[in-house]
Amino acid sequence: MIVIGGGVIGLSAAMRLAQAGAAVAVLERGETGRESSWAGAGIIDAGSLARNDALARLRRTSVARYPDFIADVQRLSGLDVQFHVCGSLDLITDANQMNSARREAAVAERAGVTGALALLEGEALRTAAPYLARDVGAALRDARTAQVRNPRLMQALRVAAERLGADVRTDCEVTDLCVEGGRVSGVRCAAGRLSAPHVVLAAGAWSSGVGQHVAAFVDVRPVRGQIVLLQAPAPPFASVLMHGKRYLVPRCDGLVLIGSTEEPEAGFDKAATAAGVSSLLSAGLRFVPGLASAQVVQAWGGLRPGSRDGRPYLGIVEALPGLIVATGHFRGGVTLAPVTADVVAQLVQRGSSESDLEAFRPGRATDRHVEHADTGDERPAADKLPA
Ligand SMILES: Cc1cc2nc3c(=O)[nH]c(=O)nc-3n(C[C@H](O)[C@H](O)[C@H](O)COP(=O)(O)OP(=O)(O)OC[C@H]3O[C@@H](n4cnc5c(N)ncnc54)[C@H](O)[C@@H]3O)c2cc1C
Repeated sequence: MIVIGGGVIGLSAAMRLAQAGAAVAVLERGETGRESSWAGAGIIDAGSLARNDALARLRRTSVARYPDFIADVQRLSGLDVQFHVCGSLDLITDANQMNSARREAAVAERAGVTGALALLEGEALRTAAPYLARDVGAALRDARTAQVRNPRLMQALRVAAERLGADVRTDCEVTDLCVEGGRVSGVRCAAGRLSAPHVVLAAGAWSSGVGQHVAAFVDVRPVRGQIVLLQAPAPPFASVLMHGKRYLVPRCDGLVLIGSTEEPEAGFDKAATAAGVSSLLSAGLRFVPGLASAQVVQAWGGLRPGSRDGRPYLGIVEALPGLIVATGHFRGGVTLAPVTADVVAQLVQRGSSESDLEAFRPGRATDRHVEHADTGDERPAADKLPA
């Protein structure tokens, strides 16, 4: 079994496959866990209860499996990845957002998901979040939101996979798939040809360019996201704060991440730019003015793997038996890693999965362009919820 790509998707799949007793090699072009999976914010967002499409269901399944997934990673690696349920506040600044928040809270009540969502207004919000700018009059609190230190998760996943016997090779770029008799039989890389009965494509934003065969089934493009990291003397708040595509993520040690931009036009350029950093700082200070004196530590960009319809590619490529695709997770790859890894392991072991994968089928027509903010995300935009 060969996994192409050592990001959160490839390493999670490798860990689950190795746990199931498979012989696994992970081939990573550079160093493992240094691309999108490292660059992200680590928000584990259960998403809108008002949505019941295939991606929303996959997301809920993944979030439900997160505690067990983390327990396995930490037990196997001996590393603490600081996963915790911290809750989130979706900040409301206009009437549209308020209407969406009311709908979301009503759906939660009807679904009997008591205590998960609450609309905070006026004094209740001031008491719960005294650090917020005074003109933020309301917020939707989601008690389900969690976070993980994603760079630590990436280290831990590699250690876990290797301790289970996975062969993780770095500086090993896959240049093409080997196809014999209409079946994928292995890969070509700098070291030569490596054979395997199954190949898992998990090369993130670069997936469509892995050799000559893949682009016909997988249309993934890079979508740059930037983050600015601040250091406050003490943790200034505990919950993730969200507003549209912007968010603030407080770590346990006073670090605060402010994210994120969404820049498909940047192509494969990972740079953090003056315009990106400036817009993130403006958003951060607009909502939490007390961060003005925090120290700027670092800014970076990462390349999310985006598909045209906003859904990942997950499944067996019927036209190329032996190839399994797990890519295109866009803004939600860290959140979707547990379920994706389980699906890949099931597809390898029994050729089918308990999850309904039709919406994620490699080779599907993806001409319908949807707003990325309405899809798999670091956070779903409250103003884009269906009525
Ligand atoms: C700024 C930002 C914030 C984000 N925040 C969140 C968040 O809060 N929550 C969330 O759930 N998601 C978030 N995401 C999205 C998430 O990070 C991605 O969806 C996820 O990391 C994708 O994982 P991956 O393994 O597919 O890709 P990657 O992590 O990019 O891994 C792909 C790997 O494949 C390797 N590779 C590429 N080509 C080859 C080749 N030919 N041969 C061998 N190896 C190859 C690459 O070097 C890379 O290591 C964020 C992303 C960004 C950029």
